[in-house]
Amino acid sequence: METQTDLEQLKNACDVCALPIENLDKVLTADNQGRAMKFCCEKCYKQYLEDPSLFVEFEDDEVVG
Ligand SMILES: [Zn+2]
Repeated sequence: METQTDLEQLKNACDVCALPIENLDKVLTADNQGRAMKFCCEKCYKQYLEDPSLFVEFEDDEVVG
């Protein structure tokens, strides 16, 4: 029997600590180059603000060679 619980939790996971966000009423959000980021708490939000580039998804731009 399939459940969507895992998927739902993944969708609502904090982008900093990756923990599920249980209280969506208090979710903090930010825009990271067009991508919606979400954070479970102010602590994670501040951590993101300190260095947003850490949380950007890069597209295959690894240096090869
Ligand atoms: Zn978090």
